[in-house]
Amino acid sequence: MSINIPRGTQDILPGAVENWQYIEEKAREICKKYNYHEIRTPIFEHTELFLRSVGETTDIVQKEMYTFEDRGGRSLTLRPEGTAAVVRSYVENKMFGNAAQPTKLFYSGQMFRYERPQAGRYRQFVQFGVEALGSNDPSIDVEVISLAMELYQSLGLRKLKLVINSLGDSSSRSAHKEALINHFAPRIEEFCSDCNSRLEKNPMRILDCKKDRDHELMKKAPSILEFLNEESKIYFDKVKQYLTEIGVEFEVDSSLVRGLDYYNHTAFEIMSNAEGFGAITTLCGGGRYNGLVEEIGGPNTPGIGFALSIERLIAALEAEQINLPIKSEIDCYLVALGDNAKDKSVSLVHSVRKAGLTAEKDYLDKKVKAQFKAADRLQATYVAVLGDNELDRQVINVKNMSTGVQEEVPLDQFITYLVNNKQ
Ligand code: ATP
Ligand code: MG
Repeated sequence: MSINIPRGTQDILPGAVENWQYIEEKAREICKKYNYHEIRTPIFEHTELFLRSVGETTDIVQKEMYTFEDRGGRSLTLRPEGTAAVVRSYVENKMFGNAAQPTKLFYSGQMFRYERPQAGRYRQFVQFGVEALGSNDPSIDVEVISLAMELYQSLGLRKLKLVINSLGDSSSRSAHKEALINHFAPRIEEFCSDCNSRLEKNPMRILDCKKDRDHELMKKAPSILEFLNEESKIYFDKVKQYLTEIGVEFEVDSSLVRGLDYYNHTAFEIMSNAEGFGAITTLCGGGRYNGLVEEIGGPNTPGIGFALSIERLIAALEAEQINLPIKSEIDCYLVALGDNAKDKSVSLVHSVRKAGLTAEKDYLDKKVKAQFKAADRLQATYVAVLGDNELDRQVINVKNMSTGVQEEVPLDQFITYLVNNKQ
C-alpha cells in the first residue's frame, strides 16, 4: 500500500515553488529596506512557552497544538506561530541590551496547527512575520502595517482591505472587560461552551467567536472605542494620522480584537476582497503587545508585529489572477551528435555553468530531434549544436532562439560568445 501525504499538508513542487521563492525574496528585500533583520528559531519549543504567550483561552492552545513528549519526558510543541519564540529569544539573548534599538526582526518558516483543513487552512503552513521590540511610538505601528501592505502591493495585489482598531491600554481594557461581562452574562447560556468559559477569563474573545458571531448580542456589544482613555485615544489618532499621511487607506472596525491581556493599542488585519476568494478572507493579522516580553520573563518592553501566511497570499494572487514574473528559461542547451561530441559536451556544459550561465544537456542518449524538443521545453535562449564534424573543425553552431540568428563560433570562443551576448 502506498503512503500518502498527511492531511492538511502539501508538497510544493517545481513549477509552483518558484512562486514561493519569488515571494520570499520580495519579503526579504522589503525587510531590508525597512531595516528588519532575520531571526531563525527552532521548530519546536517548550510547551510552556505557548501556554504563557499565546494564552490558555485561545483556540491555538485549547485545540490546535501538536504537543509531544520527548524521550527525556519534556513536553514540547511544534510552533503554532512565531511571536512567542521570537520574544523568548529576545529575552534569552538579552537583545534589549543591544545598542541598536528598537530591535526589528523578521522570520519566515513552517507553523503547525491541528485544524480542520479547508481552503486557506492547513495543518502545516508557512508564516512570514515581523516583530519590532522596544518602541512605544505610533510611527512604528504604522511602519509595521505599511511593510505588510507593501509586500502585498509589490506582488500586484490590489483588492486589499486594511482594518484597524485600538484595544487601548490596560485601564481602558479593564473598563471594557467589565462592560462586556455585564453585557453577555445574563444570556451567556445561549452561547457556545467556549464562550461560557471565556466570559470571566477573557470576555473579549467572545467577540472573536466563529460559532456565535451572528448572535444578536454580538452586534450590540459595547465597543472598546468607547472605553479608550485620553492617552489611548491620542495614540490611536496618531496611528490613523500617520497612515493617512503615507497614503495607506484603512477602515476602523471596533469588533476586531485580540483576546489576550498583553495585547493593547493597535490591532489590525489585512483582508482580500477579491471576488472568488473563499470564505476565509484574512491574509494577515497583527498588533501591539506591550505586556508580552514581561510575561516571558524579560524587562517591561513594548512590541508590535504581524504574521501572514504564504498559502493565503498565494490564494489571493490566484483570486486576482496575478501571475508573478517568474523567469524559468535557461541560457543554453547543448545538443551533441556523435560519440566524441557527447564526450566533449560534458566539459563544455560544465564551462558554461562555471561562467555563470544556466545550461543543460542530454543525459538519456536522445536522438537529435528529441534533444531539440528538450531545449524548446526549457525555453533555452541559445541552442548550441556540436557534432563530430564541428568538433574536428573546433567550432560549434550557436542558434539564438529568439532572433533565429545562427552562427558558427570557434570552440575556444564559445563561452565568451554566450557571456557577451547575454549582456
Ligand atoms: P483564523 O482566524 O483564520 O484562524 P488566526 O487568528 O488563527 O486566523 P493568526 O494566528 O493571527 O491567525 O495568524 C496570522 C495569519 O496566518 C492569518 O491571518 C492567516 O493568514 C495565517 N494562518 C493562520 N492559520 C493558518 C492556517 N491554518 N493555514 C494557513 N494560514 C494560516
Ligand atoms: Mg486560527
